Amino acid sequence: MVILQQGFLEIKREYIFPIIEKKVIDCQKKDLLNLGIGDVALPLVKPAAEAFCEAIETMKIKPIGYPSSHGEKALREAIVERYYKNFEFTPADVFISDGINSDLGNLAELFSSESLFGVSDPTYPVPLDVCYMAGRWPYLSVIPTDEKDFFLPSPPPFRLDVMYLCSPNNPSGTAMKKDLLQKWVNWALEHKAILIMDAAYSDFVQDPDVPKTIYEIEGAKQCAIELRSFSKSAGFTGLRCSYSIVPSTLHTPHIKTFWAKRMATKSNGVSYPVQQAALACLKEEGFLATMSQVKHYLAMASKLYEAMKNQGFEVMGGTNAPYVFVKCPEGYDSWSFFDFLLNKASIVSVPGSGFGNNGKGYIRLSGFITLEVCETAIKRLENLFTLI
Ligand code: PLP
Repeated sequence: MVILQQGFLEIKREYIFPIIEKKVIDCQKKDLLNLGIGDVALPLVKPAAEAFCEAIETMKIKPIGYPSSHGEKALREAIVERYYKNFEFTPADVFISDGINSDLGNLAELFSSESLFGVSDPTYPVPLDVCYMAGRWPYLSVIPTDEKDFFLPSPPPFRLDVMYLCSPNNPSGTAMKKDLLQKWVNWALEHKAILIMDAAYSDFVQDPDVPKTIYEIEGAKQCAIELRSFSKSAGFTGLRCSYSIVPSTLHTPHIKTFWAKRMATKSNGVSYPVQQAALACLKEEGFLATMSQVKHYLAMASKLYEAMKNQGFEVMGGTNAPYVFVKCPEGYDSWSFFDFLLNKASIVSVPGSGFGNNGKGYIRLSGFITLEVCETAIKRLENLFTLI
């Protein structure tokens, strides 16, 4: 008899997106504004699009075979030069991939099936779900967070082997400052644990107290793997390119060689045009275009933050990440406030409950919108709150 992986059935998290989709269809509104989506609202940055097309032209006239499973050397060099040159990394520490989501699940394969994993609550759903899908749920700890800590987790008073962290954070839009990250690194060194830092929004960091990379923290090169992506800052969600930094200095030997082996065996790498496009984002013109998109999304998030704050809401995020997390008003939970915004203002948000128990009582609004959508949404929100 075929026995399926039970972990798929054990996932208890609310699957919010199909519910949202149904509610959106059922409400039959024509003037919907989607402030829920975490997908980009601006096109691929132009230098990346041009580099992609040029690479295709090259492929028309000369055979470009399988890419290196590790990634194009020029791209790995450019990543070190742009983001990591103060930390003594080399291109050999960089592994190119098709997205952080893939790496979040694939990295777990390096660790034994009884390894103790941890995720925070609320969380971006992928690290949680991949643990279930890999049958790791009996060894999984969910670390609760609190609104007074801006939903950022602190190290637990017990051992784990692998802890998934996300800063700047989705869904709360808040980010870990140096002192909190140092606590995590110290905890990881004490317990010989590995931190997997999902840094999908690192380009969005503005606050000088918030590290742009975990490697700014003393000891991190002994215990942390960092994942970054071109998805959100350069409009790559439809193109797919990300990377992991796996230091040679990790306290547990072989992690890097296992990762390289896994990549070489299970992937034939990321396509040549995609890597050329990513490379263009790290050159001067592409980087400026990328940071200009980041600036736009942060400006949208900041406008949403101000608008909600001015209406008397408790709000967090929006400074170092393109999301704002809004506390539901008295008498509303995540879903009833979601419904209220949908039905009365035709605004789609995301209920915080979809990110875990501790996200209940909040909704997430996204800055991945155009200025026009943002301004229309704010006008509607201002008119609406006289009704509550
Ligand atoms: N990590 C976080 C925290 C995200 O919010 C997202 C996308 O929403 C991703 C990872 C996905 O990144 P990628 O597109 O590189 O797979």
